[in-house]
Amino acid sequence: MKRLLVLGGGTAGTMAVSKLRRKLDPARWQITVVDHDDHHLYQPGFLFIPFGIYQPAEVVKPRGRFLPSGVELVVGEIDVVDPDACLVRLTDGRTLGYDYLIIATGTTPRPDQTPGMLGSQWRRSIFDFYTLEGAQALAKALPGFGGGAVVVHVVDMPIKCPVAPLEFTFLAEAYFRQRGMRDRVELTYATPLPGAFTKPIASAHLGSMLDERKIAVESDFMVERIDPDTKTLVSYDEREIPFDLLVTVPLNMGADYIARSGLGDELNYVPVDKHTLLSKTHGNIFAIGDANNIPTSKAGSVAHFAVDVFAGNFCEHVAGQPMTGSFDGHAQCFIESGDRKGLLIDFNYDTEPLTGSYPVPVLGPFGLLRENTANHWGKLAFRWIYWHLLLPGRPLPLPAHLSMAGKHRPPAPAQPAITQEQS
Ligand SMILES: Cc1cc2nc3c(=O)[nH]c(=O)nc-3n(C[C@H](O)[C@H](O)[C@H](O)COP(=O)(O)OP(=O)(O)OC[C@H]3O[C@@H](n4cnc5c(N)ncnc54)[C@H](O)[C@@H]3O)c2cc1C
Repeated sequence: MKRLLVLGGGTAGTMAVSKLRRKLDPARWQITVVDHDDHHLYQPGFLFIPFGIYQPAEVVKPRGRFLPSGVELVVGEIDVVDPDACLVRLTDGRTLGYDYLIIATGTTPRPDQTPGMLGSQWRRSIFDFYTLEGAQALAKALPGFGGGAVVVHVVDMPIKCPVAPLEFTFLAEAYFRQRGMRDRVELTYATPLPGAFTKPIASAHLGSMLDERKIAVESDFMVERIDPDTKTLVSYDEREIPFDLLVTVPLNMGADYIARSGLGDELNYVPVDKHTLLSKTHGNIFAIGDANNIPTSKAGSVAHFAVDVFAGNFCEHVAGQPMTGSFDGHAQCFIESGDRKGLLIDFNYDTEPLTGSYPVPVLGPFGLLRENTANHWGKLAFRWIYWHLLLPGRPLPLPAHLSMAGKHRPPAPAQPAITQEQS
């Protein structure tokens, strides 16, 4: 009997075992998932909780409901992996052996990594919405907020769902406007990036949307510390941003056991081949979802497209054959922009988000880098798709690889005329 051990029963781990349980003979393969609790969280829903659009009960379900029969769930905290002995130790002393290991423990916000963040203002005037508890605390605080400086802030990249802080900013702007208090709120978006997003074309579009909404952007802002007494963000280059309400995305890091096991980089992400997700150092370890270091967004959509390719590759690999699938870094994110509108971005390792229509050229109905109501409804429909189609590993009519149909590439900048001196 071969043993497949999957660390983490979140988005990527659950989708992977749903697909692999069908492909691997149950008489020859034992599949076990380890997670530290039995609550599967639909994290994209955290965005809507502060504004009362979703309730917490709509984003939490028991994990066991989504694991196929023939997959065992072990509830426990992972302490360390011993890759030479092919053993995983849990903090309660239990050990689990494996023939193949899939690391799918994601990435976690770490407010402890920024001095002052967890000080006296934490969850009083400093909030996060990347955890269920943070989103719920903000849902309680927002209705009582009477106006002042609201700063939405990202500590450093990479973070999971890099558009989520922008979405929060757009929704907050609409929320204050709808409450008739927009003139009493100064909104600032503070980012370590040079612009609104990681990729230039999308950054220009999203940046102009912030401008239109009169939201100030503080770019290249690398926070050094937060002063809870004066309620100020202080950067390494000594810029200061005062706030009355700070909504921050703390540093995101992979799980600490990855560092203890000597399997991670400086942020505890597992270095893998970006096309196969096989560990760069161990031939029987893969890392899927947010836990790896591939150069695309950390997102549920990436986990989904990557797992589609990975499941076939895994079966080839364990059969001693070369892996024939190659993941292209495909990412797809709806961006909620307020007033029941949204945008969609679709990109991969080589192609940045472009304008156009999706999935049908010209007709859409989804607009690429263009606001429309179809994108908003697509974002809301995604929760149903997640629980009912994605987690059970049911096939979706969406190709795992990026398609260029319906996308418009901007014309290449004109070549400067060659002068006699240059030629
Ligand atoms: C606010 C917000 C909005 C988002 N919006 C979108 C969106 O619109 N679209 C999109 O595609 N993605 C979105 N995402 C990102 C998406 O949720 C993640 O990228 C996705 O869940 C990653 O899946 P994963 O399996 O790698 O990690 P996770 O789903 O986080 O699963 C990791 C699992 O590992 C377990 N674990 C971790 N450490 C240990 C340990 N030491 N011991 C035992 N178990 C452990 C955790 O309990 C968890 O169940 C959003 C995320 C957030 C926070």
